[in-house]
Amino acid sequence: MTLFRGTFLDTPDDPFTGGRLRAEQDAALLVRDGVIRARGGYADLHRQHPQEEVVDLSGGFVLPGFVDTHVHFPQVRVIGGLGLPLLDWLDQCALPEEARLADPAYAKGVATDFVRGLVGAGTTTALVFGSHFAPAVDTVFAEAARVGLRITSGLVVSDRLIRDDLLTDPDRAREESLALADRWHGIGRARYAVTPRFTLSCTDDLLAACADVLGAVPGAMFTSHVNENSREIEVVEELSGCDYVTSYDRHGLVGAGTVLAHNVHPTDPELALLAARGAGVAHCASSNAALGSGLFPLARHRAHGVRVAMGSDVGAGTGFSLLKEGLQAYVTQQLLGEAGHPLTPTHLLHLATRAGAEALGLGSAVGDFCVGRRFDAQWIKPAPSTPLDVGLTHAADPTNALAKMFALGTPADVRSVWIEGEPVNTPDPHLVG
Ligand SMILES: [Zn+2]
Repeated sequence: MTLFRGTFLDTPDDPFTGGRLRAEQDAALLVRDGVIRARGGYADLHRQHPQEEVVDLSGGFVLPGFVDTHVHFPQVRVIGGLGLPLLDWLDQCALPEEARLADPAYAKGVATDFVRGLVGAGTTTALVFGSHFAPAVDTVFAEAARVGLRITSGLVVSDRLIRDDLLTDPDRAREESLALADRWHGIGRARYAVTPRFTLSCTDDLLAACADVLGAVPGAMFTSHVNENSREIEVVEELSGCDYVTSYDRHGLVGAGTVLAHNVHPTDPELALLAARGAGVAHCASSNAALGSGLFPLARHRAHGVRVAMGSDVGAGTGFSLLKEGLQAYVTQQLLGEAGHPLTPTHLLHLATRAGAEALGLGSAVGDFCVGRRFDAQWIKPAPSTPLDVGLTHAADPTNALAKMFALGTPADVRSVWIEGEPVNTPDPHLVG
């Protein structure tokens, strides 16, 4: 067993319904076989377990590992394609890169970059938009398994309106998806996600094939995009003759195991439908800003009872850090004025951890530091004298410290990451004593 000592911050109670930040200083978590078995003051727990190894994380803050509910594996190398709206960005920036993943050697390099980017940002669980090429999807599952990252991913499918080399057909989509699910779903920490790119690029026959796969793989998730950009929405409505959420729902694809990214421009009936189905929405704030997609209507989602979590949307998003996404989410709500939902640092932490775990159906496993959860964690410990270090040293209280982490924190401040109690990047040897 291992005794992790430090200041632990988490959000077991939903701040959107009155929950407060849980902050315990000089506390300890007792971890055995990757699971938190006990928590309490360090002095007490150490007295009860004097023989156990102590990992001393004093002097920084320990947060639950982040849960990224929308991130594209093939796009790590095209982050920063600024200056284009969604459909032009896809044509000119994202999809040419996605086509390169037809080459398995290229895909392997991208998978390495991608998994390193996620873990380096303190992300320990992710719903990953895969590749259009099945061997590349194998590669990202394999790399995540090698590192220990908890991912849910799948084959991305499309059969119209995007470049030819990314298109498939319903039979091939069904066959390749089922084969991938057979190889990876439920193996270690991997799970399968049925992943049509978006209605714009998927015929009804292809969405029906997606429904077949979803029905054939118990516990699989469903993920796609929805209501991101006004032009995109017009095309989808023209092609499908219904609203965007219904274009998925009429195939039985919207349920409790569904996460749809963006939803920047939903109608009230769509929000009501998402709430009735128990589906989640991945809010991708930096992507929405960078592509000029719009300002996310969080208050309307809350009013309808739609679950919301956070996604980086790399590579339209501007990086892997959910600290940055949190800050951008906060800014977005500020810019909405009266229509915005005021967000505290506690809301941001909840959106980046607990809400994501719940949206992915992993709420009993990860997302906070309650006894019984897997110890997925990150230690925020900035370099001495950096603005974040100065800010944390002078923080008025833990909530204020958390605000500074969201305002100033970057992956460089994530000193160590653990998944199920195992260090993912090597911690400093002097920490173990
Ligand atoms: Zn996306």
